[in-house]
Amino acid sequence: MNQSIQKITGYICLFVGAIFLINTPVVLAQKKSPYYVKPVIWKGMITIKRMGSADYTREKNTKSKKSVSSVKTSLSDEVVITFCGEAEKFFIKDVTRIYVYNHKKTSNVQHSLAHCPLPPEAMKHNILYRTKNYPPSVRKPGNSREMDETIIKTIYGGKDCASPKEMTNIILYVFPDGRYVLSANSEVYTTTNQLTTDKEKHVCKNDGKTHTLDIHTCGFDEKEETKVGEEFISSKIHPRIVSLAFMSPENSYMENNVIKGSMKISENKPKFDGDYKENYTASWEFNAKDPCPIVYKNIMYDLALAEAFADIELMELANSMGGDSMKVYKDLVDQKANDIYKSGPGAGSEGDIDSSARMSTYPPDCVILHKDEYKNQLAKKCLPYILYKASLAHEEKHVDQCQKYHKEFLQGRKDPEIRGMMEVGAYLKGIKKLFYWLKENCDDYDLADVKLRIKNIEALPIKQYE
Ligand SMILES: [Zn+2]
Repeated sequence: MNQSIQKITGYICLFVGAIFLINTPVVLAQKKSPYYVKPVIWKGMITIKRMGSADYTREKNTKSKKSVSSVKTSLSDEVVITFCGEAEKFFIKDVTRIYVYNHKKTSNVQHSLAHCPLPPEAMKHNILYRTKNYPPSVRKPGNSREMDETIIKTIYGGKDCASPKEMTNIILYVFPDGRYVLSANSEVYTTTNQLTTDKEKHVCKNDGKTHTLDIHTCGFDEKEETKVGEEFISSKIHPRIVSLAFMSPENSYMENNVIKGSMKISENKPKFDGDYKENYTASWEFNAKDPCPIVYKNIMYDLALAEAFADIELMELANSMGGDSMKVYKDLVDQKANDIYKSGPGAGSEGDIDSSARMSTYPPDCVILHKDEYKNQLAKKCLPYILYKASLAHEEKHVDQCQKYHKEFLQGRKDPEIRGMMEVGAYLKGIKKLFYWLKENCDDYDLADVKLRIKNIEALPIKQYE
């Protein structure tokens, strides 16, 4: 265990190192670092299963007693996890968990006879007298004992605990040589219902005793407690966590952009016919999606927006129309951006434009709003993480503007000219992030035109609130 933790720590260090290097694309654009791994989007499924069963009856007959015991157990524990995203930023889409455990055990012991004690007055006499005058008190059949145990465990359905989805984690590291390490852990809260009865029959006294053990699950809002009486023990317990987890074997390699494998995590072999046997296995398959077309489409769209915001004619037109000039201005910009985009090289090609509601900067105190919401929206749509970073760079530029030119920033909510110029500065920041990312990760893309368009926008005679 310690060794594997050490190994993981080692991988994390390597991985952090790799990320650090990937994040400095300008330096590495010409020659890729030996730690370079293309940040592809993975989409896939993991299944982990633990199946067990036992079914046997045993009989034992001797002169003095007969005993019969039987066990019937079945366990079916399975989780199917679907997810997508970049290796270190997986988004879990769905987790389907099944968990049912049934266990029944009975045992019966019947003694053939019992030697009952002599009546108390017999004890007043000596042994010789006793043997002569009191016949031995033997009872047939003798004492008996009957035990019965039932345990049923299922998934806890209460709303007061985290769902299996919230309790699932996947970690994947892919190395430059195609080797990968995958680990998954999925936990679930389960209920326990256990009832055990133990009946004893004493023939000499002609009486018996029954002991009962009753354990059952209660909600988290109730207190765990155990009541102990003379013949019963009863416990209320909180839901218990059951987990399914695995780590891929050493030297697992991806092939043709597919990560696929299966393994036996553990096995419980029966020692005799019907004894408990268990198989604990995992299988996984993910396919890689190239993020380049998506990022390219998004840089094309952002370039179109930056060019539309930079259009002084639109600012003037919106101002001259009266009414809500900001609304008019935004509509004009959107329209022009769409026209530019549709006539450009990104339109019509494969890939998705990120249409999520992005972040925004709150003018009164210059803070970025909706960061996590935006990140989650991208993850849900399996879009590349760089879109978040680009959008964050855009917003950070606004924060800068808001702090340095606070009066204008507030005015910019209503004034198309200020707003347009500030947006140009912010879009350029985001576009540059996407540009360097494309340059580093997408060798097949010719970015000469993108570079030229960035230069042209920068050369425009507008104040960019630097
Ligand atoms: Zn903006």
